[in-house]
Amino acid sequence: MAQVLLEKVTKVYPGGVRAVDGIDLAIGDREFVVLVGPSGCGKSTTLRMIAGLEEISTGTIRIGERVVNDVPPKDRDIAMVFQNYALYPHMTVYKNMAFGLTLRTLPGPLWRITHPGESRKLRAGIDSRVREAARMLDIEHLLSRKPRQLSGGQRQRVALGRAIVREPAAFLFDEPLSNLDAKLRVTTRAELKRLHQRLKTTTIYVTHDQEEAMTLGDRIVVMNDGVIQQADTPLNTYNRPVNRFVAGFIGMPPMNFFDGTLRASGGGLSFEEGPPPGRSPAGRDGAIGPAPGAQETVSSGPPELTLPPERFTLPMAQLSPGALARLGKWVSKNVVLGVRPEHLHLRPPAGELADAREGGVEFAPMRTTVNVIEPLGNDMDVYFKTSLHDPVVARVEAQSGLRVDAAATLYVDLRKVHLFEPGETGMNLSLETTSPATEPAHAIA
Ligand code: ADP
Repeated sequence: MAQVLLEKVTKVYPGGVRAVDGIDLAIGDREFVVLVGPSGCGKSTTLRMIAGLEEISTGTIRIGERVVNDVPPKDRDIAMVFQNYALYPHMTVYKNMAFGLTLRTLPGPLWRITHPGESRKLRAGIDSRVREAARMLDIEHLLSRKPRQLSGGQRQRVALGRAIVREPAAFLFDEPLSNLDAKLRVTTRAELKRLHQRLKTTTIYVTHDQEEAMTLGDRIVVMNDGVIQQADTPLNTYNRPVNRFVAGFIGMPPMNFFDGTLRASGGGLSFEEGPPPGRSPAGRDGAIGPAPGAQETVSSGPPELTLPPERFTLPMAQLSPGALARLGKWVSKNVVLGVRPEHLHLRPPAGELADAREGGVEFAPMRTTVNVIEPLGNDMDVYFKTSLHDPVVARVEAQSGLRVDAAATLYVDLRKVHLFEPGETGMNLSLETTSPATEPAHAIA
């Protein structure tokens, strides 16, 4: 078992594509780390560089104590599992699992003839490792089958088994569940997690699926454009995203972003929907798209015909002292409010109202119009619009009484909102403390 260390690792492909841009990452011994991000963000390239399947342009990769920059893949003591299983079609399951071990453990045929006793002992060792892995993965009954006689899920288990028998220093997984149907993906995901709890082998796992990342990883590394945005525990990336990119990538449905202005009010701060006066709401950095019905009072036409849109204002009543100090210089400037769909309520939760009466404002109203209702069973996703933002999605308990095109008041849980700098990767200004996004998770308080 081993830790894996990446120092200033960069990959520039021929033709100039900078797929990975100077990343630093320390993966601890026994840790399960998931690299996640949208397609093209550089996660597979990172994994392939660790595996030795892709040369690194600059930087250093260590596995254990050893710098492996120039070590061929077969000597890196890692086992990789691919999306397409990569099984040998003409070999049985048993042979697929044993083959790599046989190659590594047993010297050539002449040695086997001259050392029959040792050869037998090594073969017995390989046999017990294959059978133990097969037992663990519940594929003992398939050992004599060929891959074409297996389902997708069974093939993936064989690929896993082949990795397990190697007892490597680290497992590398490249989207291993992508070819499975949704139900099988969920059950195999749980099995992978159990397997890691049992084997405790350092694991680096690539996926584009944020839910898979959240459920599997001890730590998840969110990447974008070849750069690590945040390397942190799943809950921290959800509760304390360091920037708008992470906030929007982690969580489903994604976080709602509102373009607006920070105001000083009554000794505190408030967020006012829409840009500072004199600026057009659409097309600016940080804006989330054209704002329907958005019109400034200074627009052309008689003033009595162009009513200003009814912007919502929310008191920022729950900011920490650190955030308040940082936000001082953002007063009267454009900021972006982030609210997760699950933090918009159709009424303030009953149990929480008492707290609200005692301890300041915790839920504040936002006036909206209902656009679309999507029932999900127990819950429903409701798409709303405000005067400047469309769509705004809320995940609420299934209930009747909402009508499309009718007005509705949403209650924003002020304890859970975020304020970001404008821009795709705008920093989260409302965290108690901020750290550079590439620092390891535990450094982000
Ligand atoms: P991800 O796994 O996050 O989808 P990749 O690591 O596969 O992303 O790719 C990162 C970037 O590098 C993308 O822009 C991709 O087009 C580019 N890329 C990947 N492989 C090659 C290659 N062999 N040659 C040139 N560019 C590549």
